Amino acid sequence: MTDHVDCVVVGAGVVGLAVARALALAGREVLVLEACHTIGTQTSSRNSEVIHAGMYYTTDSLKAQLCVRGNAMLYDYCDLRGVAYRRCGKFIVATTAAQLTELEAIQARALANGVTDLVLLDRRQAQAAEPALQCVGALYSPSTGIVDSHGLMLSLLADLEHAGGILALNSPLALAEYDGNAIELIAMDGTRLRAVSLVNAAGLQAPALAARIKGLDPRHVPTAYFAKGNYFTLAGRSPFSHLIYPVPEAAGLGVHLTLDMGGQARFGPDVQWVDNPDDTQVQPARGDAFYAEVRKYWPTLPDGALQAAYAGIRPKISGPDEPARDFCIQGPKVHGVAGLVNLFGIESPGLTSCLAIAEIVRDLLSNQ
Ligand SMILES: Cc1cc2nc3c(=O)[nH]c(=O)nc-3n(C[C@H](O)[C@H](O)[C@H](O)COP(=O)(O)OP(=O)(O)OC[C@H]3O[C@@H](n4cnc5c(N)ncnc54)[C@H](O)[C@@H]3O)c2cc1C
Repeated sequence: MTDHVDCVVVGAGVVGLAVARALALAGREVLVLEACHTIGTQTSSRNSEVIHAGMYYTTDSLKAQLCVRGNAMLYDYCDLRGVAYRRCGKFIVATTAAQLTELEAIQARALANGVTDLVLLDRRQAQAAEPALQCVGALYSPSTGIVDSHGLMLSLLADLEHAGGILALNSPLALAEYDGNAIELIAMDGTRLRAVSLVNAAGLQAPALAARIKGLDPRHVPTAYFAKGNYFTLAGRSPFSHLIYPVPEAAGLGVHLTLDMGGQARFGPDVQWVDNPDDTQVQPARGDAFYAEVRKYWPTLPDGALQAAYAGIRPKISGPDEPARDFCIQGPKVHGVAGLVNLFGIESPGLTSCLAIAEIVRDLLSNQ
């Protein structure tokens, strides 16, 4: 006999866990299926752990709205649940006079997005706060911070379990089929389950999984692209106490300096388009290009100070030559499959936005 469950969430990354928690707190019966042996081993543990403020994204985009809301929700949540974070602030630095205009454009966009706390600093003010910094001016974001992403995921899981939800590890979903009534799920080991609602939060695998949902029109499944981001750690003490970002580039935010909760500095991520979503090895030679980028704002970076660290893969749904796409949160009104929500392209600022994404998914499924 096939078992029945109300909601299944596929993927126990930070987004899947946040969604599962929100559904469970709304009184739904929730089962999370995770392919790996533990939670958060993929993109959710291969990122910069930055709580973004929301200034870069196109106004009214989901990225802008959910980042701004998610930033506030995440700080509140961390306070409430004792998850470690630091509201360390961030400098976006202009290293040429031409980039000063770009800082003004970022500030204007931030205001339109509802980020009202950015402060333009001249060279003297920026260097008073960060003496090692070389710049002609900077934009200071006090509401940017860093979070212990593993502590966050453990806390989301604890909330989920406290609300009655269940996590099944080593449980990859193979196929699903919508029969016009419910969604039949088939795990890799052949186990079958019927669900009223299915949330596809499979991250890098979300488009591939959606393509295996019978009854979902393939035109709703975007092509997956993978943009690897390599990180290099700095040997020794960080000369900076804020996060330091150059003016953003096309596919990423430029080779920036972030700090972990222990205070160690790392540089990255860069942008390397790859075909394989499991390609997370860092080639040490890629660090060579970092020196010139970092020395634009930190000229005294010593030779040999960078060590290959780790890489994460951005789950893109637009290719290298296409404009960046927004988060794609696809509910039944879009694709016609009752009870199904697909989450595609949840790249940065997905960590910051996880609690806000979870609200949206919960509401999309509220009448299912
Ligand atoms: C280099 C880089 C830097 C970033 N920096 C930041 C940052 O500083 N701040 C920020 O806000 N965001 C950042 N992000 C974005 C953020 O990391 C992601 O948006 C977020 O982690 C996505 O979480 P997720 O749960 O959607 O995906 P994942 O963490 O990838 O989780 C998906 C899960 O689904 C599971 N899965 C896949 N297929 C199946 C299946 N068939 N059955 C069962 N389980 C399955 C996987 O095993 C995995 O555990 C960054 C991303 C990258 C790549």
